[in-house]
Amino acid sequence: MNCPYCQSTQVFVTNSRPTKNHTQIWRRRSCLSCHATFTTHEIIDLSHLIVIKKSGRKEKFSRAKLFSGIYGAAVGFKGPDKEKFVESVTSSLEVEILALKKKEIPSSEIANLVLQKLLTANTGTFLRFIAYCKNIITLKQAKAELSRYL
Ligand SMILES: [Zn+2]
Repeated sequence: MNCPYCQSTQVFVTNSRPTKNHTQIWRRRSCLSCHATFTTHEIIDLSHLIVIKKSGRKEKFSRAKLFSGIYGAAVGFKGPDKEKFVESVTSSLEVEILALKKKEIPSSEIANLVLQKLLTANTGTFLRFIAYCKNIITLKQAKAELSRYL
């Protein structure tokens, strides 16, 4: 991108992180020509992403499906805490999926990303999610995930 002050293309990113609610990526940029610094916000858009299911069928990525899968596994949470937990996990997963820069992704790869995230976030939800995705990942993969936990 060009510097908004001097139009130079010599712009580099000095810092980058998801915004508080994880719906955007915030980047601090700096211009090498005029030394100006400025901030950009990139909105996460995964509407182009195609998910390849175990059956080989393809469908558009659905945030709602990702959310409800995690929601169903988050049995240890109640009320607004549950929403908050699931929302934050879903959003950080979107950031990770976007960073893969893929056009198509197998559903098992998404499941693995979810499991990795849940393993550190909440073990109860992690264990429930393994059961949830028994149709997505193979038994061998599920066992491998479990052994990381045990
Ligand atoms: Zn500049």
